[in-house]
Amino acid sequence: MIYLVFSLCWPLSTLCRLWQCAVCALIVMLCASVSVAAPVVVVSIKPLQLIAAAVTDGISTPELAVGAGQDPHHLSLRPSERRALQNAELVLWAGPALEVPLVDVISDIDARVVTAQLLPGIQLGSIEGAIDPHLWLDSHNARHIATALATELQQLDTANADRYVFNVQVFSLQLDAVDAELALSLQPLQTQPWSVSHDAFRYFTRQHGLQAPLTLADSSNNAPGVRSVVALRAQLAAQDIHCLLTEPTENHQQLDALLSGSEISIVSADVLGVAIAPAADAYALLLRQLASALQHCMGERDE
Ligand SMILES: [Zn+2]
Repeated sequence: MIYLVFSLCWPLSTLCRLWQCAVCALIVMLCASVSVAAPVVVVSIKPLQLIAAAVTDGISTPELAVGAGQDPHHLSLRPSERRALQNAELVLWAGPALEVPLVDVISDIDARVVTAQLLPGIQLGSIEGAIDPHLWLDSHNARHIATALATELQQLDTANADRYVFNVQVFSLQLDAVDAELALSLQPLQTQPWSVSHDAFRYFTRQHGLQAPLTLADSSNNAPGVRSVVALRAQLAAQDIHCLLTEPTENHQQLDALLSGSEISIVSADVLGVAIAPAADAYALLLRQLASALQHCMGERDE
């Protein structure tokens, strides 16, 4: 760049000194503005976008690679979404246990990559003999993801390094508050039996000492067949379960019909944070909403 500035400016040295200085200043300003632009952060799924948004608060908004309504177990990439990943400077994804279709694209891009399931400190659970991919539902894991992301960003974007450090500290304090709040509100529910349509809650269950729920769909979120629903109805009755947590993307009418006649509250819980806008406190909101969905689901039968 210095060479370019000299080659542009030097030959004109005597005639247009004023003009020359203006051009040099403009070039320097352009260079400066390019160097301070925040890096483009692209995130694979919505809950990770909510964690990333806490880290980049006040600097940039992380982009979501695929549509927020997509089931992360069955992702498919449009050409524009593939390009967004290819143009990223930093990619955050859960890892090959969840976003299988992204493995090839991510192994082939120049960006820095943060793979949540491989980070030091992440506590992985297992499901049907494989890694349970719903790792964002443990707030300890969210802390490790935020810290790793901030470390990469501090190197990529030195101008904002202090802000990333500050943001992670704020995030950590938010999670301290949420953890304490949920420990208190979920403690009375620890002995209650419950059920889930999709086996996504193991991290949340483990962290808060809840009973393992009875599960309707399999871990890859394939819809239940009629036979498994019949079996589930028998189990719900046998185990005295009156709460079923579902996800907003599921077909409630079908579930209502299949479970009609059984005394069960069917409550929707937004495990992916589909309806939550990315913001500094969005991930904490996701956890709070899950806890209140569970309280609502179990509490209705309590009185
Ligand atoms: Zn899932």
